Amino acid sequence: MTDKMLKFVKLDQETPNKRKVSKRVDDFKEIYDQFINDKAKEQSSRCSQCGVPFCQIHCPLHNNIPDWLKLTAEGRLQEASELAHSTNNMPEICGRICPQDRLCEGNCVIEQSGHGTVTIGSVEKYITDLAWDKGWIKPIQLKKKQSESIGIIGSGPAGLACAEELRKIGYEITIYDRYDRPGGLLIYGIPNFKLEKFVVERRTNNLKESGIIFKQNIEVGRDISLEELKEKHDAILIATGVYKAREVDLPGKNLANIFPAMTFLTASNRKGLGDKVEEFENGVLNAENKNVVVIGGGDTAMDCVRTAVRQNAKSVKCLYRRDRENMPGSAREVLNAEEEGVEFIWQTNPKKFLGSEKISSMIVDKMKLGKPDSSGRKKPEIIPNSSFEIKTDMAIKALGFDPENLPKLFNNSKLSVSQWGTIKINFKTMETSINGIFAAGDIVRGASLVVWAIRDGRDAAKSIQKYLENKKVNKINAA
Ligand SMILES: Cc1cc2nc3c(=O)[nH]c(=O)nc-3n(C[C@H](O)[C@H](O)[C@H](O)COP(=O)(O)OP(=O)(O)OC[C@H]3O[C@@H](n4cnc5c(N)ncnc54)[C@H](O)[C@@H]3O)c2cc1C
Ligand code: SF4
Repeated sequence: MTDKMLKFVKLDQETPNKRKVSKRVDDFKEIYDQFINDKAKEQSSRCSQCGVPFCQIHCPLHNNIPDWLKLTAEGRLQEASELAHSTNNMPEICGRICPQDRLCEGNCVIEQSGHGTVTIGSVEKYITDLAWDKGWIKPIQLKKKQSESIGIIGSGPAGLACAEELRKIGYEITIYDRYDRPGGLLIYGIPNFKLEKFVVERRTNNLKESGIIFKQNIEVGRDISLEELKEKHDAILIATGVYKAREVDLPGKNLANIFPAMTFLTASNRKGLGDKVEEFENGVLNAENKNVVVIGGGDTAMDCVRTAVRQNAKSVKCLYRRDRENMPGSAREVLNAEEEGVEFIWQTNPKKFLGSEKISSMIVDKMKLGKPDSSGRKKPEIIPNSSFEIKTDMAIKALGFDPENLPKLFNNSKLSVSQWGTIKINFKTMETSINGIFAAGDIVRGASLVVWAIRDGRDAAKSIQKYLENKKVNKINAA
């Protein structure tokens, strides 16, 4: 093993090249080049094959990282890809958009010892993209058909992962989604420069070819009721994500050209997918030549500022009420945004929006960090008489998302939700307060990460299988 591995002492860390800023802001393509074969092997060989692999422990999917790094270093790339798929339904997507700096790579022993982490995410992306190119990833061929069917509400990563796992066992699966395309936030939230849409469509097409039925443009609660779905299927999964944008309740909030982040990002993603988007065509949702101000400091805010740059905005500013160190967004994404010309105005908070019909400027207060609040984070406080004006032609609110009122939407008061509106589940079984109805992903956790949604989807699949098997046994015993 030592022959191929443990090269971190001699070999420096190398990541795939980032495309030149001047080139990448001209299009919406992903910003990192692909590893070439030899680089992926070489970089994998830096792994020290830890007895207790912290990378794996800190991965929500517990991906078997050291083993697929070793297979990659040995040139056994098909086996490496198969192993990556054994714990993850979409490794090429996680390889692209997981915050590895906070998960596997941030906990890599080599990183901790000052040698620079093994570039796990880039290798994961490389081996899975290669698997697609070589035709190693095939639709599911059923060995056995089960008689039961499962209805899944939502085709984001949680719904897709659950669907795939249950289809492998042979169940009939139907996914209902209110969007016209499957993928949830992978398709309409996350911009192309982080995740090109052919990558998502390749996955969802493969699931269609695996016999999973996708019913798009169907909103559960409006076009079909939860009760009807329950009658049609033997079990249900709710994986509807969180979509209610948090509001900024300030004077001038109803002026034109103040948008929630998802309105802005969805229009841009639809344009990229070739759709006709009226509000983009007529300039309303296009940042071109505008002074754009994005409010918020999370990853959604980073996606908005970088989208505005690519739409040729005149200027792009990001307001965040805490400082850089206390920002919730990934440090990697902040750096990318800064390289692309975004100006961060730390420790500022909007006070009012000004304009006649449309917004023309924003008054903001300067902030300082006070004592920690109940969450342990230092509370931002307004510095008196510190306000100043920022010219603003377009304001984008990226302050996070809350769940919609699902019991109301589904007209079912038996569906228990937490004080935040997320669905309450039994964490051992993922079952909601209604027998036979399970839930997974952001609608349970609140806004989270793709990798957690996949994990939840997989866990829910196991529980649904157990539930259906028990139901079968009980039926036989009762007969
Ligand atoms: C702008 C943005 C950028 C992000 N960037 C990253 C990132 O870089 N890395 C990362 O790990 N995470 C990122 N995330 C978070 C990540 O996208 C989510 O955590 C993840 O998609 C949640 O998956 P999900 O399956 O629970 O829900 P979603 O992906 O939200 O999918 C839910 C699906 O349910 C459908 N639906 C909702 N209600 C109904 C209904 N009543 N009837 C039928 N269908 C319904 C929706 O149309 C949608 O397709 C980002 C999120 C946003 C908003
Ligand atoms: S923690 Fe780093 S060195 Fe250790 S097994 Fe994981 S990738 Fe390899």
